[in-house]
Amino acid sequence: MRKPRVFVPRIDPEIVLTGREAHHLLHVLRVRPGREVVVFDGAGLEAEARVLRAGEGVVRLEAGEPRAVRREPPLTPVLYLALLKGNKLADVVRAGSELGVGRFVLLVTERGVPREMGRAKLERLRRIAVEAAKQSGRSRLPEVAPPVPLAALKPVSFGLVAHPGAAHALAEVEWPGSGEAALASGPEGGFTEAEVAQLIGLGFRPVGLGPRILRAETAPLVLAAATAAARGM
Ligand code: SAM
Repeated sequence: MRKPRVFVPRIDPEIVLTGREAHHLLHVLRVRPGREVVVFDGAGLEAEARVLRAGEGVVRLEAGEPRAVRREPPLTPVLYLALLKGNKLADVVRAGSELGVGRFVLLVTERGVPREMGRAKLERLRRIAVEAAKQSGRSRLPEVAPPVPLAALKPVSFGLVAHPGAAHALAEVEWPGSGEAALASGPEGGFTEAEVAQLIGLGFRPVGLGPRILRAETAPLVLAAATAAARGM
């Protein structure tokens, strides 16, 4: 059986877990003393660990020597993602985290219906990223940055913006070997031409994702999957 992975902010010889991580271990995985788990700090370190005590909302672990692990792609996808309605962002963050996305940059766009995101919703997306990182064996935690307008973005060294009807197709892209791939995808109503021009000015190249229009939650995952397929190993 695969050992459960537990996210801890720091790997010490003895770790005391409370809150959500403890709740998950106690009430979902029903761990008992002696159970072996793997702890990871989300910043590249991992260690074997064993449950010493479990109960009353607290789990006490004894951790072995931390080791550096590398399960991150050489080219890190960074998703520039328009705010979307309902639960769609949660789905993109979950699957994007599995695909190796290093950072989600949420965008306030002209045609996007949500214009802002409350603290609780942002925290929920971050928890989803942690869960996906645990489950998929990521060595680093993906970041989820609070929403910003396009005007606040900095230039990128390699970027693509998904834009229906773009002159170039995703299949034609020459991917860099390492670094970051900035990948922008629009809201349900699409980016405006002015927004696409703004992104081009920052170094994003427009690409088409084929002759069919993909849903706003599908297109960013196509960009992330293409990056993973090109430089994910
Ligand atoms: N009517 C909108 C338009 O023409 O842009 C459709 C928007 S689509 C539902 C949401 C986002 O997904 C788009 O802004 C774009 O970033 C991306 N997208 C969807 N299908 C695409 C395609 N075939 N080629 C490139 N980008 C696409």
